[in-house]
Amino acid sequence: MSNTPILELRAVSKSYGRGDAEVHALREVSLTTGAGEMVAVMGPSGSGKSTLLTIAGTLEDPTTGDVLVGGQPLAGMSRHGKARLRRQTIGYVFQDFNLLPGLTAAENVSLPLELDGLSARKARLAGLRALDGLGLGERSGHYPDQLSGGERQRVAIARAMVGERRLLLADEPSGALDSANGEAVMRLLHGACKNRGMTAVVVTHDAQLASWADRVVFLRDGRITDQTGPVPGPESLLVTESDK
Ligand code: ADP
Repeated sequence: MSNTPILELRAVSKSYGRGDAEVHALREVSLTTGAGEMVAVMGPSGSGKSTLLTIAGTLEDPTTGDVLVGGQPLAGMSRHGKARLRRQTIGYVFQDFNLLPGLTAAENVSLPLELDGLSARKARLAGLRALDGLGLGERSGHYPDQLSGGERQRVAIARAMVGERRLLLADEPSGALDSANGEAVMRLLHGACKNRGMTAVVVTHDAQLASWADRVVFLRDGRITDQTGPVPGPESLLVTESDK
């Protein structure tokens, strides 16, 4: 594992609109995350969480400041270069899963690799491996509407990780799930970071779920207002008074 930060935001600001209508969605946000690290982002609605993910995912450019993915600055990178980075390095997980209903779980997961030019057979094998890794091997031939919400979200996570992508960006991935499935999603993301050296940036409004992360970043009005260091894991909640 190299020590190059996988995602680096340097004094990133983002404004929308002009004049009186100008909105400062992010103000001088700096954030560095290394391989194997899971960062949770919390903050009230409108504080800039989605904007942070969008910019980290190269889907929008910052107004000022620099973004580096895998040590490569995005400024000056061609559209083609950014598209390749998105296909090969970055995985996205959304609140509402965004699976294609006409494709099976395995086809959904292997699609990004096929789009990247891998043969259908190799893409399928990698897709099955990713599903297996998340305990969904037996469900690979099922269509999304034959899966539970928790299973659908696991398929979406497999799709975001397939092909050894290194940066996973998740916008409230547990938002549409009950608390047990929400915990399961965070546990999987945490495991992917620790076992495979992936980096995850996960927006959540749930402090209990955020405690799976190595670090929690709090946003308010587009600024980072606070960062916790490594937080005690959820298992610390199991410690009883008599153990202390
Ligand atoms: P959060 O994800 O924390 O709810 P967002 O990043 O979605 O916050 O939004 C931050 C601020 O930027 C909000 O005031 C929002 O209205 C504004 N904003 C976000 N995207 C756009 C856009 N495309 N055009 C105009 N304003 C936007």
